[in-house]
Amino acid sequence: MGSLDSVRLDVKVIGAGIAGLACALALRRKGHTVTIYEKGPELYEDGAGLQLFPNATRIIHQWGLQDDFVKVVNQPKVMTVRRYNDNETIGEIPHNPMSEWEYGYPHWQIYRPDLQNLLAAAASKAGVRMEFGHAVTSINAEAGTMILDDGTELTSDLIVAADGIGSRARSAISPVTAKSYNESCFRAVVPKAKMLQDPETARLMAGDLSMVWVGPGAAVLGYALAGGELYNILLSIPRSSDTEVGRWNQPADLAEVRSHLTDFCTPVKKVWGLVDSCAKWELGDVPKIESYVSMSGKFVLVGDSAHAIVPHAGQGGAMALEDAAALAEFLDPLTLSSSAELPGRMQAYHDFRQPRIEHIRRMAYGNAKMLTLPNGPEQEQRDKMWAGMTAKWKAAYEQMGEEAFKTRVAPDPHAADLRSPEGRAFVHGYDTAAEARKGVASIAL
Ligand SMILES: Cc1cc2nc3c(=O)[nH]c(=O)nc-3n(C[C@H](O)[C@H](O)[C@H](O)COP(=O)(O)OP(=O)(O)OC[C@H]3O[C@@H](n4cnc5c(N)ncnc54)[C@H](O)[C@@H]3O)c2cc1C
Repeated sequence: MGSLDSVRLDVKVIGAGIAGLACALALRRKGHTVTIYEKGPELYEDGAGLQLFPNATRIIHQWGLQDDFVKVVNQPKVMTVRRYNDNETIGEIPHNPMSEWEYGYPHWQIYRPDLQNLLAAAASKAGVRMEFGHAVTSINAEAGTMILDDGTELTSDLIVAADGIGSRARSAISPVTAKSYNESCFRAVVPKAKMLQDPETARLMAGDLSMVWVGPGAAVLGYALAGGELYNILLSIPRSSDTEVGRWNQPADLAEVRSHLTDFCTPVKKVWGLVDSCAKWELGDVPKIESYVSMSGKFVLVGDSAHAIVPHAGQGGAMALEDAAALAEFLDPLTLSSSAELPGRMQAYHDFRQPRIEHIRRMAYGNAKMLTLPNGPEQEQRDKMWAGMTAKWKAAYEQMGEEAFKTRVAPDPHAADLRSPEGRAFVHGYDTAAEARKGVASIAL
């Protein structure tokens, strides 16, 4: 076991997804010894896209990885919200460079395998060991021990469990299981060469275009990825909420997808017409659990295993990055003096993270509802509101230019709407590491 007297922890991480890789990197950067155990034979991430908002890209910058990321990301100017059937614009959400003006960091669209490979390369370069083909089969969260599928028993100062929404590790400290959400997502990527064959789909490939087509009960999200080499397309449709949860990335039937698109506009149909194969994700989340950490402080859940949220805020992966940035500050050797402090530190980490994540969960539910309102008065009101918000930021930009985005709206930790300036400031303007350092300082007092 690593010695806490030297305040260098021996950390074992379960899972090499976004959360596991990010936590491993962040803890290694603080000087801890870190080994990841991943059950797959190699890094695996489904070939779809991910949006990284400035609360996430700030962390990538703080880790000094931005130069590698900018080679592979797309940086859209705005996300355009369009009506599903006539393709009319309802509103626009500002992204780049407004995101940098407002919060100091950009908005990125990234191919998931690129994100994972870049995090893994950085972790490996920093000295993180990665053991593939090793599933963790049992855990003693109080003792900090775990057993691998080949029977090896491992002891550590800290186990960081990052084994995703269907986490088995979670049962070591909580009876909570993932619950289903009444939506299915179909996801696919289309190569650039195919998209360029038709002027209508070619237009969507412009790096600064990012679209969401909203309709009754269904929404389609589309944006360019991988430096413009791929187009990411996602369809979400309702399903009965009692179906099994945790069935991710299953092969899906394209005929089923197309049957949901009959009322959608031509560009959407055309993109889906170019898709050869797609995957289906049954959405779900992990309800609030009592604590992310064990009493002894030797075990912590991070990422989706701790707090999977529905994807409608584009924040699940960002929460994993935030967990990593925060955990590293709470376990900074410069502020830890003995092993006796570990349980208190880890409890403080939990107290620090959970309220923010639970609020973002509520915002994600709210956004999910807004995106798929049935046609009628509520939808008309939503469209008016989004058009009004768009007109407001555009008018301010025309009058004041860049300064319009530097007014520094105060974050409202109670803001219900993810799109309101106060809500965006709360989610996107957040500096996890700086806030975590304040949290650590307050317990040190
Ligand atoms: C449709 C959709 C769209 C999304 N869009 C966005 C977005 O735009 N922006 C965003 O920030 N987030 C988004 N998310 C959320 C994001 O994808 C997740 O929050 C994120 O991938 C979770 O990462 P994770 O590392 O916690 O879990 P996972 O990616 O599930 O990784 C878990 C890892 O643990 C390994 N593992 C499991 N069990 C064991 C074991 N017993 N032993 C060893 N290894 C094990 C697995 O093999 C896997 O590698 C979206 C999610 C969905 C479903």
